[in-house]
Amino acid sequence: MRFLIPFPLIFFFLASCSNSEMSNTQQVQKPQKETVAVPIFDADSAYSFVAKQVSFGPRVPETNAHAKTATWLAEKLQSYADSVFVQPFRTRLYDGRGIDGKNIIAAFNSEAKKRIVLAAHWDSRPFADYDLNQSNHKKAIDGANDGASGVGVLIELARIFKKNPLPKHLGVDIVLFDLEDYGAPAWLEERQQQDGGWALGSTHWSQTPHIRGYQASFGILLDMVGATNPIFPQEYFSQQYAAWLSNKVWQKAHNLGYGNSFPKVLGNPITDDHLPMNTIAGIPTINIIHLVEESENGSFFEYWHTMNDSMEHIDRSTLDVVGTLVLHVVYNE
Ligand SMILES: [Zn+2]
Repeated sequence: MRFLIPFPLIFFFLASCSNSEMSNTQQVQKPQKETVAVPIFDADSAYSFVAKQVSFGPRVPETNAHAKTATWLAEKLQSYADSVFVQPFRTRLYDGRGIDGKNIIAAFNSEAKKRIVLAAHWDSRPFADYDLNQSNHKKAIDGANDGASGVGVLIELARIFKKNPLPKHLGVDIVLFDLEDYGAPAWLEERQQQDGGWALGSTHWSQTPHIRGYQASFGILLDMVGATNPIFPQEYFSQQYAAWLSNKVWQKAHNLGYGNSFPKVLGNPITDDHLPMNTIAGIPTINIIHLVEESENGSFFEYWHTMNDSMEHIDRSTLDVVGTLVLHVVYNE
């Protein structure tokens, strides 16, 4: 993913926003008592799922590591879900080259009409184009945080959904997108980048979902949810397309005591998988993504798109916070 606007506009407090509806909503929201038993998230288990993905090697489409990871993801999800859909597709990269990808979808409570999408991208970037060492720029990254962390949390959620069945009225679809991170490398000039080529798997799924006419009440995308001391501001497009959801989830984070990691401030607009979900599929979707106010690369955590986005920088406590939050959202729907 990348941020959309070259210069950060960011991080002003939502409370100072002129949108009166937004500030009113925040004023009246009070911690709500939860009456539902919410299962415990197992961060060690989630961590092991992140490590497993990274162990295959960089998950770059059309490589062996990518193929092996796809098989593992589908089999793992098959062991937890009602059904798993593997959606192969062919698309075009930023440079016009054709490439094959695979979205992987796991359905829970398939019969339920009300559905929630939980998503992350499972591919990893073929270019370490923000590495400080220029000789690494054309190497593929592990993407432990950028990709594998969100998927690791979602596989742990799948394991939990199997053990602690969801309420009957509620269906959940875990959607793992391919080809999020094969966008134009940073060394190209802007005019060579065309439309950038990000979020291709999500674009395909949003145009052609795994089930004809598929709809969901809302979606939550997880991206870069594994680094130490993360900050998850309310990402700009999430707020633009699904402010009600963003505000609800951030309030829940505060109720759970995670306010430091989930400040109620507006974050940069990020071109990520939630954008096609909002604009093409019409599913109100937010992005829980680690963004920083000032960084060398514009918006992201310090190892973003570098060779250092590796397991040694994955923090169980961050997986725990995000996984627990999503569990509380889901089981209270
Ligand atoms: Zn990325």
